[in-house]
Amino acid sequence: MAELTQTSLKTRLLPYAIEEIKDGKFLVSGYFSGWAILSEEEVSLLRSERHHESPALCKKLEDSGIIINSRNVEKAAEIYRGTNRNLFSPPSLHMINVTNTCNYRCRYCHAGVSQGKDIMSEKTALKVLKFIFQSGGPCITIEFQGGECLLNWKVVRLITEKARELNKAFRKDLHICIVSNLSLMDEEKLKFLTDHDVAICTSLDGSREIHDANRRTALGQDTFQTTKERMRFIKDYYRSRGQDRKVDVLATITRAALSDPKAIVDMYIELGIKTLHLRPVHNFGDALSRWPQLTYTPEEFYEFWKEAMEYIFKLNRNGIDIIERGAYNIIRRIFHNDAYYVELMSPTGMGRTALLYNYDGAVFNSDEGRMIPERIFQIGTVDEDPKEVLTSKENVSVWTSSFMDLLSYNSAFRPWGGIHPVKIYQDQGTIIPNISEHSEYKIYTLQCRYLFEKIAEDGFEKRLLLDWCNKIIK
Ligand code: SF4
Repeated sequence: MAELTQTSLKTRLLPYAIEEIKDGKFLVSGYFSGWAILSEEEVSLLRSERHHESPALCKKLEDSGIIINSRNVEKAAEIYRGTNRNLFSPPSLHMINVTNTCNYRCRYCHAGVSQGKDIMSEKTALKVLKFIFQSGGPCITIEFQGGECLLNWKVVRLITEKARELNKAFRKDLHICIVSNLSLMDEEKLKFLTDHDVAICTSLDGSREIHDANRRTALGQDTFQTTKERMRFIKDYYRSRGQDRKVDVLATITRAALSDPKAIVDMYIELGIKTLHLRPVHNFGDALSRWPQLTYTPEEFYEFWKEAMEYIFKLNRNGIDIIERGAYNIIRRIFHNDAYYVELMSPTGMGRTALLYNYDGAVFNSDEGRMIPERIFQIGTVDEDPKEVLTSKENVSVWTSSFMDLLSYNSAFRPWGGIHPVKIYQDQGTIIPNISEHSEYKIYTLQCRYLFEKIAEDGFEKRLLLDWCNKIIK
């Protein structure tokens, strides 16, 4: 027994992957998600298993859990536990599609509202609420999705009131937010949402030209001015109540936006928005019918995003605070082992930490799952027992197909990436991913490399990224 214990305390080298980053600097990441930046000489020592010749290298490998011994085994386990914490979490993000209709006809509408005419009934809404409180853990986020949610205001109101009321007994950490184009927002609705602590999220694609090219009303009118005015109206309302709240904003990036990333950043700054999320467009819903005009290669998106990031770094250097949310999500994973951004979970968080309730009471494993006409990502209905829905073979078979460890084991960026089975299915016609060929994974890899370049340079950009990490963005 003593001999066994001694053997188990010996230093061991665990599986690792190496990626050259820039100027003779390399990223090495280990199976337990720890990582270090190495020089070419250190990489050579590691590859030939002569790392013990350099005490400095040994320390880096030990700190990152790439070599393991009695001194660091607890710390390595802690990093691994942190990165994978979501594995043991019940659903926390509950998205409710209250209607598939909308008064807008955005060119890329992922929800496909051009075909929609349905709204959720109050009866279904109450079943959804019961399902959420039965399946949820200590944290519940209810997110109203559409279509345009304000077209089913009755149900938004009902769910919000009942959720807050129920929570007096359940005492969960309850967050509620609504995604809306804001066109129907008035003082009465805003008062209700503010009184019930409901966060508001909207879309602004950048400059007037880009926004109006993509986002138009059902009658074909521009929408930029309305969005801008409603955002100002909400901001002024919050201020009049002495509340330090903000509207969350997303930018969906189509081909039309690629040529001028600075214009998008400048528009956000002009409107006083401090967090910008540059999201690639997806081929769901109404985007499918005009996909060739909307899309681009992963490399083209990356060049756009990189130019935006360089500009954002420059602005921050000049004292103007603005964060890019996509970079923030990755950086939080790398530095803080943040395990809760659904799209960066492996296995996928869809059907585990996130669920979508459709207007007709169908439960899907994700928001995107309801956008596939075949309904292959439907995992149950709100009439069923949540435990049975969550453990159904329809659900489990999808998330078990999505382990990054099996598919990307030789990438140094593996520990922080995730798989989106619905996007994979839409692009590749199967839920068994060919991950290296998937456009979002290519974008993720390019973004990771860029962020690690900044980390390896060890200058202002790294300090700023570390500063972003310490902020909590909901
Ligand atoms: S993207 Fe949103 S606002 Fe635009 S048509 Fe679709 S649901 Fe309506």
